Amino acid sequence: MRKFGLIGYPLTHSFSKKYFTRIFEEEGIDAVYENFPISDITLFPRLMQDERPEGINVTIPYKEAVLQYLDEVSDAVAEIGACNCIRVEDGKRKGFNTDVVGFEQSLLKLLQPTHNRALVLGTGGASKAVCYVLRKLGIPYQVVSRTKADGITSYGELDAGMVSGHRLIINTTPLGMYPVIGEAPPIPYEGIGASHYLYDLVYNPERTLFLQEGERRGALVANGYDMLIIQANESRKIWGV
Ligand code: NAP
Repeated sequence: MRKFGLIGYPLTHSFSKKYFTRIFEEEGIDAVYENFPISDITLFPRLMQDERPEGINVTIPYKEAVLQYLDEVSDAVAEIGACNCIRVEDGKRKGFNTDVVGFEQSLLKLLQPTHNRALVLGTGGASKAVCYVLRKLGIPYQVVSRTKADGITSYGELDAGMVSGHRLIINTTPLGMYPVIGEAPPIPYEGIGASHYLYDLVYNPERTLFLQEGERRGALVANGYDMLIIQANESRKIWGV
């Protein structure tokens, strides 16, 4: 039986195990997908030796720390510095970033030529994957953070004019995610209009407060569910399963 799995910590509400287990069952694939909640990344080599999986997904907090245990990385992983999918072949571990493919394909479904300037809210791992895709698509962007830094705008500096001039706004923060659904990134929403496209990487709830703010001003909106499914299927392609 082929073996795949997920490392992260904690792994309480993993989408991946349910998703892959159902796919393997439905398609009659002789494979298993297991959760490996390791409390420290130094346990990773031993886990790989003991379990011998062909493929591993990586989630919070190890997307960056796992890089030191890889033999080879894709161009996206090298540039972003984060990996969420590993393929083991002839004992060698190669790292990929499927968030990149997931976000790009999902974003493109509603993207119009007028969405030609972006605000990216948040500076974590997902933000880096999003920025990589925006560079690839040639869309200039401004990153927004709680902490001002070189080349990074703080929420306090954002005014309605800046929001109105950036017609693509992407939330990569966990604000608004279940169960704290009453929160939204603190941006001047009055700058949003019908020519905006608001994309939220959060997918639970389906319409976050951030997306609701956009929707009631006539903006196009999309949540991250599509991205989640595309990135999971990208892992399947990488593993050949
Ligand atoms: P992360 O590394 O924890 O980064 C989130 C970023 O959000 C932080 O770097 C921080 O940026 C900002 N942030 C965190 N707490 C905040 C708060 N209370 N107020 C304002 N900003 C806050 O997480 P991640 O891995 O990048 O993931 C981010 C979100 O995307 C999560 O909700 C995750 O579930 C979702 N995601 C979805 C998919 C998908 O397939 N749909 C894939 C990957 C991730 P600053 O410190 O710079 O403000």
